Amino acid sequence: MLSASDTDTICAVATPPGRSGVGMVRVSGPACLAIANAVLHFAPTPRHAHYCPFHDSHGELVDQGIALYFPGPNSFTGEDVLELQGHGGYFIMDALLKITLAAGARLARPGEFTERAFLNDKVDLAQAEAIADLIDSSSAEAAKSAMRTLQGEFSRLIDDLAEAITLLRVYLEAAIDFTDEEIDFLSEGRIAEKLEAIIISLDKVLEQARQGALIREGMAVVIAGKPNAGKSSLLNALAGKDSAIVTDIAGTTRDVLSEQITIDGMPLHITDTAGLRDSDDIVEQEGIRRALNAVKQADRILLVVDASMESVDSRSIKHYLQTPGFEALTQALDTSRLTIIQNKVDVQGGQPNLLPPDNKTGASVIQLSAKQGSGIDLLRQHLKDCMGFQATAEGGFIARRRHLDALRKTRECLEQARFQLSHHAAAELVAEDLRHAHRHLGEITGAVTTDDLLGRIFSSFCIGK
Ligand code: GDP
Repeated sequence: MLSASDTDTICAVATPPGRSGVGMVRVSGPACLAIANAVLHFAPTPRHAHYCPFHDSHGELVDQGIALYFPGPNSFTGEDVLELQGHGGYFIMDALLKITLAAGARLARPGEFTERAFLNDKVDLAQAEAIADLIDSSSAEAAKSAMRTLQGEFSRLIDDLAEAITLLRVYLEAAIDFTDEEIDFLSEGRIAEKLEAIIISLDKVLEQARQGALIREGMAVVIAGKPNAGKSSLLNALAGKDSAIVTDIAGTTRDVLSEQITIDGMPLHITDTAGLRDSDDIVEQEGIRRALNAVKQADRILLVVDASMESVDSRSIKHYLQTPGFEALTQALDTSRLTIIQNKVDVQGGQPNLLPPDNKTGASVIQLSAKQGSGIDLLRQHLKDCMGFQATAEGGFIARRRHLDALRKTRECLEQARFQLSHHAAAELVAEDLRHAHRHLGEITGAVTTDDLLGRIFSSFCIGK
């Protein structure tokens, strides 16, 4: 069972491994002052930067640097915290960690510092998650949005909704207690009207959270097509000068290659299915299996066709995919998630163009030139439209799929309450639905949690955070 009164003192290297000017060992818990005495040979002044030697248990000099002591509750974790900033080498950091362990601390689990901050009411759960998201952010937009969540913007909206639901619940409970009274509580209190207002507010938060989750989680895109159709050129054109390729998971030519680029703040996880060929070779079969998995899970599949060589549109797509080598793709493909890229329109002097989705297949067609970069803007906009992504909405905050699920469940409960109200006007049933709605909202900020949920969230953090 997790508890804020955990008496262990924890320690970890809080800076990345490797060589750097400065590295930091962080310690949190009741033994901080004793550990400081053992390592520094004096009791540090609270919130004062001491430049001093660090010693091991035999009194030998290990390093010298800055020691900072933050007595609880005014610290990140809410407990006593000691920070030892030494020289950022692997050996020195390891030695500093060992002397704090020898002085009475134990190694922290991943995310345990933040978990203690949460358990000591320093941050709520959405803010704690935003710390991990800030560290992991791969674009300026993601970092800004994570910072807003960390500052409590998302939590404030959730708290406002929870407060509105509480007021409604209080009124309903009164209605239940005074059922014999002449006054018709349900209509007098304009319950339906207030409920409607809460649903409207919730929908706004849900849409903002959806955008926030898109900034964090992005869109999965698969690029498929025959060799030389221009897949690599398209990927490079999409990445552009401004979007660095962040990940480049190495693989053989038979493997599935994944890369991440960002368009206007929305991460695009791109899988290049270069190895998608039907084959008897075991290694190639594994490549195909992975490629098909990527196709099945993709938000969008871009099928690149060399328009100077062959004509493929949404009507002839089935025929095109029946050509040898694409049988497996045909089986996995859902055309409503398909965009046909007619590449190399420059060869015949064509202009870039976006054709509306085909009525029957749902597939869209974009004519462009990857080599010249014309029509790439159309494709970028198209990808954003597919996800309903509005670039860099001012004041946006980061959110997670978990938050969206909780908001959607809250909405279902509120809708159920609305239904009860309009059909039966049974105050008890409405109150019950509102109680469930409240509980789902509480899961977002951690007002309502289970150990299992907390375990899952904090174990995904890095050690030292
Ligand atoms: P991939 O095998 O599908 O990855 O294709 P590449 O991106 O390597 O492109 C194959 C060839 O087509 C290269 O010579 C590219 O320069 C050329 N190419 C790619 N896109 C275009 C285009 O839009 N217009 C023209 N004219 N050539 C292109």
